[in-house]
Amino acid sequence: MEKIIFATGNAHKMVEIRMILEDLGMEILSQKEAGITADVVEDGTTFEENAIIKAAEIGKLARQLPEYRNAIVLADDSGLEIDYLNKEPGIYSARYMGVDTSYDIKNTALIQRLEGVPDEKRTARFVCAIAAAFPDGSMEVVRGTMEGIIGYEMAGENGFGYDPIFFLPEYGCTSAQLAPEKKNELSHRGEGLRKMRAVIEARKERE
Ligand code: IMP
Repeated sequence: MEKIIFATGNAHKMVEIRMILEDLGMEILSQKEAGITADVVEDGTTFEENAIIKAAEIGKLARQLPEYRNAIVLADDSGLEIDYLNKEPGIYSARYMGVDTSYDIKNTALIQRLEGVPDEKRTARFVCAIAAAFPDGSMEVVRGTMEGIIGYEMAGENGFGYDPIFFLPEYGCTSAQLAPEKKNELSHRGEGLRKMRAVIEARKERE
């Protein structure tokens, strides 16, 4: 069976990835399951560049293993862009205020930085770029987004990271208050994964 390796160590992401890509009828493995260990330096300047750097690097390592020579290697890079803060924290979302700082502290700080800022200027979006390194050496990249505004207080227990401050006006709640299935349906990563599924399907049809 054809294989997909996803360059992530995050078990939550793998559940979402498997759910959305299972229709492809391909075997889906995490980087860890494929036995590939690498510390890729994400030194790109955009989400797309970072996703491509990761997919290329893990793709190169996969090609050295006979069982994964023909695998498609996927990698993502995601984060939160707040318009009023010139799109901060952006590609530095995980590193914002330090990787070991809790999200309670990071989220409180972001709410404080937006003190007195009215709704219409609190616009923000989650972005997710997904890159695919194909066995023929070609690369494709797609982007998914989810639009919202930064709330005035934290709310919700689901999700992770910046979800408790990401308010979705259409739903009247934060992304941390959405049921996981609903978040997959609306999220930047869900959209990016569905776009990537279409790219892979189109390639399979051409083969
Ligand atoms: P990465 O894609 O694993 O590098 O994650 C980037 C960072 O962006 C995460 O550590 C979170 O801080 C933030 N982020 C990305 N997606 C989400 C999301 O769905 N909810 C909340 N925070 C997110």
